[in-house]
Amino acid sequence: MTEKKRIAVIGAGPAGYTAAKELLQNGFAVDIYEKEAELGGAVYTGIPVFRMPKQFLQKEYRTLQELGCGFRFGCRVDREMFARLRESYDGILAAIGAQVENTFGFVPGNGVAAGLTLLYDLNILHRAEAYAGYRNAIVWGGGNVAMDCARSLIRIVPEVTVVYRRSEKEMPANAKEINDARKEGVQFAFLTNIKEIARDDTGAVTAVRVIRMSLGEPDESGRASFHEIPGSEETIPADLVVMAIGQKVDFTVLADDLQITAGHMTNIENVWTAGDAWTGPKTIGAAVQDGRAAAREIIAAFAEGGESNA
Ligand SMILES: Cc1cc2nc3c(=O)[nH]c(=O)nc-3n(C[C@H](O)[C@H](O)[C@H](O)COP(=O)(O)OP(=O)(O)OC[C@H]3O[C@@H](n4cnc5c(N)ncnc54)[C@H](O)[C@@H]3O)c2cc1C
Repeated sequence: MTEKKRIAVIGAGPAGYTAAKELLQNGFAVDIYEKEAELGGAVYTGIPVFRMPKQFLQKEYRTLQELGCGFRFGCRVDREMFARLRESYDGILAAIGAQVENTFGFVPGNGVAAGLTLLYDLNILHRAEAYAGYRNAIVWGGGNVAMDCARSLIRIVPEVTVVYRRSEKEMPANAKEINDARKEGVQFAFLTNIKEIARDDTGAVTAVRVIRMSLGEPDESGRASFHEIPGSEETIPADLVVMAIGQKVDFTVLADDLQITAGHMTNIENVWTAGDAWTGPKTIGAAVQDGRAAAREIIAAFAEGGESNA
């Protein structure tokens, strides 16, 4: 009997666990390496329980256990470990998500927080008390991360305002999230962008300096472009600013030169990628679909005689 091919999946988010399931069901041996304590990726660490019950993650975990999946939770794969995994497995799927946050030069700390860090503090570390002293929070962004930050904060902080540079129509967040946020008391400043964060002598945030925006022709994203209106600057009082202005992928945690080549393959032999790490930040459904597609590529590559992207 031929030996099972062994695949290490890095990341237990929707892309990683779906790919693992597909591989196990097709005769591969799979171990998942995950830096967090549980399965679920951004669904586990980012999306608050009040918005999305997480029982389906336990169901996925049990299914993987029944299929014989190996788990290394609490295991952050760094470059050294990645190199070792390459030697001990036949293939690697890097499903590490897009978890590096854009900050546009603003440094987190002392009244300025990055959105995913805030959600991690609240959802995983249960550190609501760290934010309870603030009175007036600004959440900067218009996607689901911004909505989750605003809706989490309005449960702790008396005033929460979402600042978004386009209009409500262009917001990437689900309409239901926007409506729920509004019902819960979150305020919105549309067509507004942050230019500067003002601090007092102690370094504490006192306000944000914003500028009004106008919309123009669609840009490369297909949404209306935005332009600053000269002379429209104003100051909005705030003591907490949360940046939820997009995330990107960072493969350098694993290797210097890892790049996507064709399909889900990378330039490193027998290393594939999937999910947000492959597409950039998207959705749970897209990550599930993509995890399955990547697994099928891996299955096909080994079916063709054990050779892959060598
Ligand atoms: C706050 C928030 C709200 C969202 N709301 C929605 C929504 O309402 N609807 C929707 O469809 N989508 C939503 N999304 C997007 C959705 O959650 C993601 O698109 C999806 O989780 C991507 O899956 P993934 O498996 O590619 O990556 P992720 O879910 O990001 O999983 C990647 C995993 O890799 C692990 N990892 C990373 N680096 C390493 C390493 N070096 N070693 C070991 N493990 C590592 C991470 O810990 C993580 O568990 C939301 C995302 C966020 C952050």
